[in-house]
Amino acid sequence: MVIGTSQGGRFLPIDLAKAGRKAALVEGGHLDGVCVNSGCTPTKTMVASARAAHQARRGAEYGVRTGPVSVDLAAVRERKRAICRTAGRGRSARRRSSSTPLRTNLLGRGKVSTRDRLVPYTVFIDPQLGRVGMTERQAAEQNRSVRVAKLPMSAVIRALETGETRGFMKAVIDADTQQILGAAVLGVEGGEIMTIIQVAMLGELPYTAMANAVFTHPLLAEGLNSLFMSLDAQ
Ligand SMILES: Cc1cc2nc3c(=O)[nH]c(=O)nc-3n(C[C@H](O)[C@H](O)[C@H](O)COP(=O)(O)OP(=O)(O)OC[C@H]3O[C@@H](n4cnc5c(N)ncnc54)[C@H](O)[C@@H]3O)c2cc1C
Repeated sequence: MVIGTSQGGRFLPIDLAKAGRKAALVEGGHLDGVCVNSGCTPTKTMVASARAAHQARRGAEYGVRTGPVSVDLAAVRERKRAICRTAGRGRSARRRSSSTPLRTNLLGRGKVSTRDRLVPYTVFIDPQLGRVGMTERQAAEQNRSVRVAKLPMSAVIRALETGETRGFMKAVIDADTQQILGAAVLGVEGGEIMTIIQVAMLGELPYTAMANAVFTHPLLAEGLNSLFMSLDAQ
């Protein structure tokens, strides 16, 4: 018996039935749970509307003339509802993957745990804050010998071009192994940039791989070259 659908829960009974198990699903509230109905998706659509208003008001900074900008809250809510309906219908990989550990364990296909995994987070403020791994303080508490790379977003060409220069990138490196222990990116699409660093951490790449990588010019990702190259100047 699966109690509650949540993100991937509605797929679980189907997968169990396909594997020859008897399964039933009980949902006492909204199909698909909090995330798509009243949590992750609706709040981010509202943030996107707020950002659109903010950008429209900044038009003059980019040489674009706009009239007075106002927000139509009813239209904002309708957009939110439409997006949540679409997101709720989708059988996205994200939704399926959220039930993967349960499915794998219940079907006896392995023992999957979320323990000891690199768990990042993003705060959807403006600009975004993306965080992964150890902070400088946590590394110090573990008596690790570290090097710290920092770069203001104002030093990233893409950030300059788009007028999004608030914030910084920071990474903590193990001085002995050269591996990246953690990172924080406060800046436009900070969560996305942090995720590039997370992938490097998952692959246990030395920071030099990021310093010397060829990234498309001019992307925000190119800032990672400068961030990690700054260690050479220390
Ligand atoms: C405003 C807000 C914003 C958020 N933003 C993000 C975000 O950006 N990123 C992120 O990762 N997370 C975000 N979250 C958190 C995310 O929504 C939750 O972590 C996630 O929904 C938890 O999933 P769950 O399956 O544990 O529970 P739920 O999504 O709550 O699902 C549980 C389901 O079980 C049902 N249920 C409960 N009890 C019973 C019962 N006795 N009988 C039958 N059915 C029952 C409920 O109706 C519900 O459908 C946000 C949450 C909120 C509130």
